[in-house]
Amino acid sequence: MQKVYNSRLILIAATLVILNAAFGIAAQKVEPTPPTREQAVTSPTAAFEYFRFCDEASTKKIRATMENNPEYRQSLLTGQSPYVAIVGCSDSRVPYSEVLGAKSNDVFAVNIAGNVVSDDAIASIEFAVKYLKVPLVVVLGHDHCGAVSACMNEAEVGGALPQLIGKIRPAVQSATKACVGCDKEALFSACIAANAKLGLEELINRSPTIRTFAKEGKIALACGVIDLSDGYIRWIVTPGEK
Ligand SMILES: [Zn+2]
Repeated sequence: MQKVYNSRLILIAATLVILNAAFGIAAQKVEPTPPTREQAVTSPTAAFEYFRFCDEASTKKIRATMENNPEYRQSLLTGQSPYVAIVGCSDSRVPYSEVLGAKSNDVFAVNIAGNVVSDDAIASIEFAVKYLKVPLVVVLGHDHCGAVSACMNEAEVGGALPQLIGKIRPAVQSATKACVGCDKEALFSACIAANAKLGLEELINRSPTIRTFAKEGKIALACGVIDLSDGYIRWIVTPGEK
């Protein structure tokens, strides 16, 4: 009887050890819940956590791609060779990789709210054409642009914003003059188109380098407005047009 009792005790003890080990291991394997896109806008810390999480997740994929393609990895280390330089708006709804099918090393991007061609934007484009030998320069506006809207509505903005919005004003004024009888939506579209065209004119008029490269046929210049709903660009000026 005592022998049976001892056997039962040993069995129970062994079971407890196994269960403890199993649950202990399981407890160690519990991964923290990954941060979500919804949480990212709830606080600055949450935004950084999500940003870091996305970087680590996507870097794993990029590393796997690079390991399978050593020539591509080497090409990135030896320097960039984009085929197009774009002055575009900072608006987060214009994702070049999805809308333009662009890959890494394709696009030299200068993103400024309202695709404003500032001095620094001109310098960046000069760098692209002169040193990276980029053959195509595009000024790209987009529909429903908040910066153009702010200019049209003369929104009261502080800080450094007035000087940026002021650079859009000539486009809004010329489009308003030309778009007689337009409804609100049509006028908004006309202002966005005029702003993209103004950006291209600024590049040409204010940069001797860009003028020279264009005259020598080393670069093509274009401007257009991308439609966020379908991704198509409505071209305003294509290469060769004046
Ligand atoms: Zn915009």
